[in-house]
Amino acid sequence: MLASLDPLVEQIVATTLELTAVPAPTGDEGDRAAVVGRRLADLGLPVEHDEVGNVVSRLPLAGGRVPPVDAPALVVSAHLDTVFGRDVALEPRRDGERLLGPGIGDDTVALAALLALAGELAASPPPTPVVLAATVGEEGLGDLRGAKHLLRSVPTRAFVAVEGHLLDDLVTGGIGALRLCATYRGSGGHSWGDRGAASAAHALLVAGAAALKAVPAGRHVNVGVIEAGTTVNAIAAEARLLVDLRDEDDGRLRRTATLVRRALEAAPRGIHATVEQVGHRPAGQTPRDHPLLRAARAARADVGLPRAREDSGSTECNAAFPLGIPTVCVGITRGADMHRTSEWVAIPPIADGIAALRALVRRASAEDSGV
Ligand SMILES: [Zn+2]
Repeated sequence: MLASLDPLVEQIVATTLELTAVPAPTGDEGDRAAVVGRRLADLGLPVEHDEVGNVVSRLPLAGGRVPPVDAPALVVSAHLDTVFGRDVALEPRRDGERLLGPGIGDDTVALAALLALAGELAASPPPTPVVLAATVGEEGLGDLRGAKHLLRSVPTRAFVAVEGHLLDDLVTGGIGALRLCATYRGSGGHSWGDRGAASAAHALLVAGAAALKAVPAGRHVNVGVIEAGTTVNAIAAEARLLVDLRDEDDGRLRRTATLVRRALEAAPRGIHATVEQVGHRPAGQTPRDHPLLRAARAARADVGLPRAREDSGSTECNAAFPLGIPTVCVGITRGADMHRTSEWVAIPPIADGIAALRALVRRASAEDSGV
């Protein structure tokens, strides 16, 4: 069985190396989207670049029939973007049984697997509508822009997100994340000559400390970024703070955010404070006995993979929960150092990853799948 998979794994390896070399910072995914779009078109598949930058392919059905656009589809996606800016040298390489490079597993090997799957489904079309998508805005402050738009614009029966590193996992739930950006502005001035004038930096420190104090025990917040002032002997005219809140329960997440927000909005005279929500990944959970999850478990068993760890995570699945769309995130291989330039993935497990993905899509797109 493995021998017949080898050319496919080689193809995924080559595509992974090719795509990893194309920069795709969050918000600037166009170059990589163009390559993915061309590869889908080369397979003879329809390709749409939607208004937020996703690459979307609605696959033809058996017999060459084009599914109606309003027919709910099984949607399978991998994200285009990486956490690396254009200043980071992307020099993907193969070293023995490993592939190395920034973003190579998160999520480039999954994009390559998606293209391999596209090739197979072009040759052997599914019985019910399947849409493949390469999405924008998964990382950083992208706020799942691509997945959210995709799931609102494409009628979706079930949503499968593919991540490069997660071969031992099925992500069936979403940790909610909510991001706030607080900005403080004042008139600034000379640290001695204008002494007494309100400082945006001081306002940030006081409000930030109060916000941390306002967080109930057991809840999780992270002040990830603080920026303030320009030099040591000037009163800061501007200061900014970015905070990330996480919770498995979306209602509780929003309640904590309200407390944090109220504390951050407090500012002394002479300082104008604004607090904006800059992102929300809603929490949620696909029911454990949903046919999609049963299909995902069975697909692993089909190809001899052990039972997966089933857990919550922060993936594109979060975009599906508020819409009531059943969803799961599956992996392609194993690796380490996500979000670091030293990131790597193992080549041999790709054979099982693509086989399980193929089996899941076959099962979930079957007429009688119940998905
Ligand atoms: Zn990812």
